[in-house]
Amino acid sequence: DYKPGGNHPAYIGEFYNNGKYKLTRKLGWGHFSTVWLAEETITNQHVALKIVKSDKVYSEAAKDEIKVLKKLKETQKYDRYGGSGNIMKLLDNFIHEGVNGHHIVMVFEVLGENLLAMIRRYEPNGVPISYVKQITKQLLLGLDYMHRCCGIIHTDIKPENILMEIGNVEKTIQIIDSMNNKKRKNSVDSQMKELIVGATCNDVIQSEHSVSTSIHKRSKSHTLITKSQPLPSPSVISELEESLITGNDNSASPKLHNNASVNQQITVKIADLGNACWYDKHYTNSIQTREYRSPEVLLNASWGCSADIWSSACFIFELLTGDFLFEPNEGHSFSKDDDHLAQMIELLGAFPDYLLENGKNKKKFFTSKGQLRNISKLKYWPLQDVLKEKYKYTAKDANEIADFLLPMLRLDPRKRSDAGSLINHPWLKDTIGMEHITISDRKLYSVGDDIPGWSHEFTNG
Ligand code: ADP
Ligand code: MG
Repeated sequence: DYKPGGNHPAYIGEFYNNGKYKLTRKLGWGHFSTVWLAEETITNQHVALKIVKSDKVYSEAAKDEIKVLKKLKETQKYDRYGGSGNIMKLLDNFIHEGVNGHHIVMVFEVLGENLLAMIRRYEPNGVPISYVKQITKQLLLGLDYMHRCCGIIHTDIKPENILMEIGNVEKTIQIIDSMNNKKRKNSVDSQMKELIVGATCNDVIQSEHSVSTSIHKRSKSHTLITKSQPLPSPSVISELEESLITGNDNSASPKLHNNASVNQQITVKIADLGNACWYDKHYTNSIQTREYRSPEVLLNASWGCSADIWSSACFIFELLTGDFLFEPNEGHSFSKDDDHLAQMIELLGAFPDYLLENGKNKKKFFTSKGQLRNISKLKYWPLQDVLKEKYKYTAKDANEIADFLLPMLRLDPRKRSDAGSLINHPWLKDTIGMEHITISDRKLYSVGDDIPGWSHEFTNG
């Protein structure tokens, strides 16, 4: 990727924008860019620089990303519920000329690790439920703002694109550096540090994501996993987690454990608007990362804001359990898409006529009778039962979680609940620090079909 048209070979100590920023360390990377921690030289503040690949396709995409980011910022004055605070903010942007070409650079506030790193840290358990509720409520607040106030669809909601806020950047960097020193002395610590420091760990973990297991495997029968193994080195984790979340390295303060009640406020922010589009202007129909891809996109039917709701449900399930909700695989006689559709039917029931009629790919996957063409044996396993049988939730918890997630997983994209209405759901009522947040202009269980561009690209007339 480090060639003309690709990434810029950035290095620590390199200056940007006429000496305004100086690179300090690498934070992560994605398909379009590498992301670096930098110091603003005059103020000594830390920022994150997203240095985009130089090829024209990437630069054009970056220009669109900047337009979206600016809209998200400008619209803040109409934000009634604070959701704009759960979206990563653009601070500055400029062009950097390097050996591989002109690179668009976006400057953001510095955030911590992405949520895939957090999921990995709690494996084989899920993330503690009190955290899941905080993350969920904030994600939905961000999406409600994006969809209803800004007319923007993210199209790539997944753990890698949701980042945790760090309380105090300077302090956290100090802690990371002191961990680095300890690491040299103690090699056991070194693995933990790799796991914890968002910067390094985001890099390591991104490439490993596909090894996770899903609840459905076509080639094997469903196997029940008892989720009872202890967390790895909880004290090390809790100490750093605490510092990453609150910027506090006071070892006398309460530790976090998987089932302990958590009294901290985790702030998370939606990042990577690089694939976002407008409610009335879609750039492509190839949207969403495989595991989070909605049925309407698989079938090449119309899609809209509600595609983000589908991905969010997949993401929330993954937070709760550590497993993908859908993890399709190719077989001898069926494609990945066939398997994906089959897994959806096994969990959620038959496809609605609306999708079978409107999906431009319907004939590829379904017979005229609405049966899957390439997969005939289906094992139905409703979400409540999966939560009880595989993940050992009590009947009460399983029903409550399913009651929350199923309106997000309606196969018919027109009928999904919108982010605002889901914020009002009883499951989120006891979200620590956010108990009183409700959306007064959305009714619980309401469907988002009054939101322009909800299930199809909006056209005027
Ligand atoms: P791409 O569009 O190339 O996928 P992203 O915006 O998703 O780029 O950034 C890639 C990775 O860099 C993220 O997954 C995250 O780990 C890290 N990252 C991005 N922005 C920040 C930030 N503001 N603070 C800290 N890390 C970040
Ligand atoms: Mg990304």
